[in-house]
Amino acid sequence: MPKVLIADKINEKGVEVLEGSAEVVNNPTITPEELLETIDQYEGIIVRSRTKITKEVIENAKNLKIIARAGVGVDNIDVDAATDHGILVVNAPQSTSITVAEHAMGLMLSLSRKIAIADASVKAGKWEKSKFMGMELRNKTLGVIGMGRIGSQVVKRSKAFEMDVIVYDPYITEETAKELGVEITTLDDLVQKADVMTIHVPLTPETKGLISKDELAKMKDNAILLNCARGGIIDENDLYEALKERPELKAGLDVYENEPLENSPLATLDNVVLTPHIAASTKEAQRDAAIIVAKEVKEVINGNTPSNVLNMPLVDSETFQTLKPYFKLADKLGQTLVQITTPNISELNIVYSGEINGRSKEPLTRELLKTFLNPILTEPVNSVNAKAVAKQRGIKLTEGETEDSGKYDATIKVEVKYDDNETTIEGTVENGVTKIISIDNYEVNLELEGLMGIIKYVDLPGTIGTIGNILGNYKINIGEMQVGRKSAGGEAVMVLKVDQEITSEAIAELEETKDIEVVKSVKL
Ligand code: NAD
Repeated sequence: MPKVLIADKINEKGVEVLEGSAEVVNNPTITPEELLETIDQYEGIIVRSRTKITKEVIENAKNLKIIARAGVGVDNIDVDAATDHGILVVNAPQSTSITVAEHAMGLMLSLSRKIAIADASVKAGKWEKSKFMGMELRNKTLGVIGMGRIGSQVVKRSKAFEMDVIVYDPYITEETAKELGVEITTLDDLVQKADVMTIHVPLTPETKGLISKDELAKMKDNAILLNCARGGIIDENDLYEALKERPELKAGLDVYENEPLENSPLATLDNVVLTPHIAASTKEAQRDAAIIVAKEVKEVINGNTPSNVLNMPLVDSETFQTLKPYFKLADKLGQTLVQITTPNISELNIVYSGEINGRSKEPLTRELLKTFLNPILTEPVNSVNAKAVAKQRGIKLTEGETEDSGKYDATIKVEVKYDDNETTIEGTVENGVTKIISIDNYEVNLELEGLMGIIKYVDLPGTIGTIGNILGNYKINIGEMQVGRKSAGGEAVMVLKVDQEITSEAIAELEETKDIEVVKSVKL
């Protein structure tokens, strides 16, 4: 049974998911030294944030297929090193959405009703009723910045409070906005109209400092600003200045530019509520994260594809269904190419056509690269590291599309440049059969399967007969044969399906024969 290490404390429910599928080693206090020594035994590892999966750990992890983070952030995992070694990294971003949304609602209420400051006052022995006049949320405008997993949960909850919602998220469509019952607007408009503004975008170069001096200045006098996303999206100095000057402006923060927050002037203000990055910390979120990643680990050790992969682009299910018949083709083309070229590849150009156009072909490209590179290299190449390995080997990869798929539903054409040569091979899937339809731009049409031969020769009377005779002498029976040529007497290509493998002796004799140029044996 495959072994899975649980290296940090995760919820029991996650461990239960793996029972029966893996031998689970639950060692939540494992030391870095122990981890380094024993990691090669495991096919899967589940961590939270305590265990560091460094490059060194990954280099020792000879059997590891998946690193699962029972949570969201993967700062403790060297994702690039995992990618280079073909190891999947998964997390559970959806596990915390409701928990974080609820925290945002909590901060919202805490500020609109001055709960935190009133609590501190009562605990200090005071009874300052008139000081804590609140604001009702009903009919107020909620401005949501970032309408992803968490943003949309906040919207859902705010509707129960009878709030009107406006959203700033340039990456969602009008259609999605309609479905969610929200109005899309610009950041500038949102900032001016919102009574409560809540941030749910990732921290990117684009969102760093998204809310700074200018935006703060445009906010309504008694507005509330919330950040449960990432520190740095609000400029903290600008926020402090604004809150100090305008005591009716309020802010609720769970995340900071530097964590833990130390000696921040924000902590001296009454119109701010601060929590120590706990928006995602609930038992339910931790349980869900453990279950989600344990299911992912189970999928991977059973040979299936997980859904929350961070280091391999996945496609939507519709695209996947369209691409599905072509995986075998990509695989056979890769296998054929590796047998008819040399490992010294400088360029690989892949052109897709037909029904697969307009969709992400990333999984097909990776499949082709995987089968093409695997036999050449000692390090295992898989769909995760295929592109990274090609890059490391200096292979220039291009992918494109062409309108023209001829009479076929779709085609994949691969051009490989190696040494001083180049070879082009093209295939399709016809009635479920994987076929080669051209080689070096000579048209053929033969199933890409079993034992084959590809022979380049000069198209002169008798050459085909000679090839047949030589193969016959070696007791190699030709099952099917297709020839392609551009003009009589010029260069031609023969693609054969044979019943016995074309041996090296047969290849040598054929290549010594006049008018026969190159002979390649292919085994699929
Ligand atoms: P998500 O990817 O589901 O949604 C992010 C949304 O932001 C998307 O709809 C995207 O289109 C939008 N967006 C991206 N760039 C934008 C821009 N420049 N302007 C406006 N919108 C933009 O992410 P999520 O799971 O909802 O997480 C949202 C944030 O919450 C992230 O920053 C995440 O790190 C953070 N988070 C914090 C905690 C915590 O403990 N406080 C826990 C979980 C997640």
